[in-house]
Formats: sequence, C-alpha cells, structure tokens
Amino acid sequence: MKPLEERIATQVNNIPRSGIRDFFELVLGRDDVISLGVGEPDFSAPWHIREAAIYSLEKGQTSYTSNLGLLSLREEISTYVEEQFNVSYDPKSEVLITVGVSEALDLVCRALLNPGDEVIYHEPCYVSYSPSIAMAYGVAVPVETKVEDEFVLKAEDVAAKITDRSRLLLLNFPTNPTGAVEPIEELEKIAQLAIEHDLIVISDEIYSELLYGDESGLEMGEHTSIASLPGMKERTVLLHGFSKAFAMTGFRLGYSCAPPVLTEAMMKIHQYSMLCAPIMSQNAALEALRNGAEEVEKMRKAYARRRNLMLKRFEEMGVPCFAPGGAFYLFPDVRKFGLSSKEFALRLLEEESVAVVPGDAFGAAGEGCVRACYATGYEQLEIALDRIAAFVGRLQS
Ligand code: PMP
Repeated sequence: MKPLEERIATQVNNIPRSGIRDFFELVLGRDDVISLGVGEPDFSAPWHIREAAIYSLEKGQTSYTSNLGLLSLREEISTYVEEQFNVSYDPKSEVLITVGVSEALDLVCRALLNPGDEVIYHEPCYVSYSPSIAMAYGVAVPVETKVEDEFVLKAEDVAAKITDRSRLLLLNFPTNPTGAVEPIEELEKIAQLAIEHDLIVISDEIYSELLYGDESGLEMGEHTSIASLPGMKERTVLLHGFSKAFAMTGFRLGYSCAPPVLTEAMMKIHQYSMLCAPIMSQNAALEALRNGAEEVEKMRKAYARRRNLMLKRFEEMGVPCFAPGGAFYLFPDVRKFGLSSKEFALRLLEEESVAVVPGDAFGAAGEGCVRACYATGYEQLEIALDRIAAFVGRLQS
C-alpha cells in the first residue's frame, strides 16, 4: 500500500498548520497560564440571544432552511448592513448566510478563482487567508504592511503587486492581528486601483463594530466599507458575521453580500458542501440584529477600557505599541529586545506563564511583533501585564 502521507492532495500538503495552533498546544493543560492568545471574545453571547436559540429548539425548529438562509434573517441583515455600511443589498438575491466568515471566505475563493489566478492581500493578516487561496488553487500574493506605518495598507504597494493574473484583492479592516484601520484617503485610492485593473474585492469586515474613535477609545469610531465607495458595490464581496461583536463564535454564523451572479456562484458551492447554516444559530442571529445593539456597545466599551490599560502599561514598560483604531488586538513591537517574535513569546510563556502569539504566525511581515488579544477580563489583564513587565524588565537589565 502506498504510504498514507503520499495520498494527501498536493495543495493540502503544501499548506502549513496554523502557527497559532502549534503555539497553543504548548499552553494546553497548563492552568497557570493567562492567555492573550486566542482571538475570541471572553464574553458569552448575550443572554437574550442564547434564549432565542433555546426557544427556537423548544418550538421544534430543527429543520434545514433555504440554502441562502432564512429570508427573515437575510432581510434583517440587509437592513443592518444598509445602516452600518451605507450599501443596500437585495435580501432575495444578494445575501448568503454561511457557517461563519470562514465558510464565506472559502466559498468566494472557490467561486472566483481559476488555477493560477492571483489574490493580493495585506500581511500580517488572519491565518486562514493564504491557505484558503491555496486550497482554491489560487496564488497568494501578500503585500507587506509595516509597523512604522501603523500597518496602513498603501495603495502604491498594492499597485506594485498587480499583474495580468491578478483577479482578487482581499482586505480586512479593522485588521486581525494588528487592529489597524485604513484611512479613508488610502481606501479610496485602493478602490480606484480595483476599478482600473478590474479586480474583485473581498472585504472582510468582521471587526467593524469594534472601533475606538477618540483618544479614550470610548467613543465609537467611524467605519467605511469599501463596498460603499462609488463604483465598488458591483465589484465587492462584503463578508461579515456574528462571531466578534455579538460574541457568538460558537454559533458559527456569517454572511456575504455581493451582486446576484457572485452570490449565486457561492451559493452553488454552499448548497452542496454545507446545505445551509444551522437554523438555531440563524434564529439567534435574528435576535442579535433586532435587539443586540446595546449589548454590543457595552462589550465595545469594556474592550476600550482594556485597550487603554494595555496601551498605558506597554508605554510604561518601554514596549513600543501603536494605538490601533479597532478589533481587540494590540501588536507591540518587541524588536528592541533582540529576540525573534517566537523566542519572545516562548520565553514569556515559560518564564511568566503569559501566552501571546508570535507575529510571524500571521505572515513574514508580522516578525518583530507579537499579538496580544485583550478579549480577557480586566483583572486577568492586570496580572498578565505585571508578568510581562517583570519579563521585559529582566530582558532590559
Ligand atoms: N476573519 C477574521 C479577520 C477573523 O479574525 C476571523 C476569526 N478569528 C474570521 C474571519 C473567522 O470568523 P468566523 O468565526 O465568522 O468564521
């Protein structure tokens, strides 16, 4: 028999395991560790949302839904997206409900890529981008963003990567892992490039409710979706979901908004691979959109306070860290300690039992930084920061 290793499909063999997962295997089973590692809210989904899921089960709603998802939810999404992003989508033909943004990303890559087509995206970025492109037989073309520029994606750097094989431009603002928010002037230039070079834009806006507008971070910031810029709706696939702002990661619910032809192509894959998203999650999401705004704002304010604490403490420790406009991550620059990101993170874990993610887990451009997620209780963060201060104090002495 041929060795099983040789039976694995080439494109699967070629993708690496997630660097986050490798790192977190070291943490498993150690209850002394404070983890600033996993990019997941520490809150449970608000109670009224959980109740909606329970009630839907009590009523015996345990069936499939339409492949696109419940029409009532698509209608609610369309209203929400119009209010939030200023773009209107037809709930009947332009909204597809998926199993998280993760599935939506996979669908859009598979629906739009032919082998060898190039996808331009910015690094450091969410760990699944390059593998999702590769599994759809595309070619991942990263554009480096730099700590010196506070991880702003420059249109000129995108332009430099465009070739006659470029098909898609994948954007994520606010960005995981840096928290960066794209200035509107730059976003407009990028939209212009997409139009000139006939690129379809995939815009992952999963953190768009978590914005910190003023210095205190307590004011909500402004979000502009690239889909709302002139000439962009017809070439954009907007991805969003419930995992972050509504603290609903386990419900596994996301959606795409895109022109009917693209939605239909994505739906064809979805109907054969997933059939539909779980009905109880869809019912919970309906409740989230109808009555969840207040809870979202409460959680955002809690994140803002934690962000301020972290920024203040990193500054006191002499660890350079820019103040990002969104998400729930800080991406401090640890180069001055003379360790690689991985060495820094491993030693911090071994010596002080605090887990952060080495920046290179998010692509080579992340080397030199670490990701510290502040979706962790305030008191835990205070302890973690004391431990980090002790660690960097030793490195500096
Ligand atoms: N996009 C980004 C930028 C993310 O950070 C995440 C989750 N960490 C996802 C997509 C996937 O989210 P979901 O739970 O909706 O699949």
